[in-house]
Amino acid sequence: MRTELDWSEYQDRGMGDAYADIPKQGGDFAKAVAVCIRSGVCEQHGRGVMCPSFRITEKQLFSPGGRVQLLKRALNSDEAALTADTELAEAMDLCVACKGCKRECENSVDMAQIKIEYLAQQLKIQPLSWRSRLFAYSPIWLNQYPILGALIRWRNKSALLAKLGEKLLGIAAKVPLPEVTHKPRAKA
Ligand code: SF4
Repeated sequence: MRTELDWSEYQDRGMGDAYADIPKQGGDFAKAVAVCIRSGVCEQHGRGVMCPSFRITEKQLFSPGGRVQLLKRALNSDEAALTADTELAEAMDLCVACKGCKRECENSVDMAQIKIEYLAQQLKIQPLSWRSRLFAYSPIWLNQYPILGALIRWRNKSALLAKLGEKLLGIAAKVPLPEVTHKPRAKA
């Protein structure tokens, strides 16, 4: 597996540790995953930030430790498993990349960075969705095509357009989109 990020800072992590359980594939990326020792801190309530997706769903697989478990399963399987595993895809999708685990986990599991690598591997086999393109390129597109600003205002006023946006792009109809200002904000 060829990784897209540089994971060399993890090259010595878990070496010689019988409990590290480093997956077969993924090299230093796999070692970054294996820093989790399943202490369960990420599956507790009422402490710090970690982990919002676990706290909302109360599903173990949507905690950092649960994601590690799924990532290890995929990395111990064949190379295609990382991108083909739908359970893993759902778990990674629900990570909001808040970095709570990096700050609060005793072993500093960096799931937000692991998610970037995971998404980069996904991009090798499937193109970026229109929804992701829209959010990624909106600052450029709004500048190039001012009519898009008018379209956002129109969408915010029209329940029909908002529903269409929800159906086609997965943008919640009941949430208004931020509108583009006509003039740059004056400096304080
Ligand atoms: S970065 Fe992801 S896995 Fe880590 S605490 Fe935030 S939501 Fe949970």
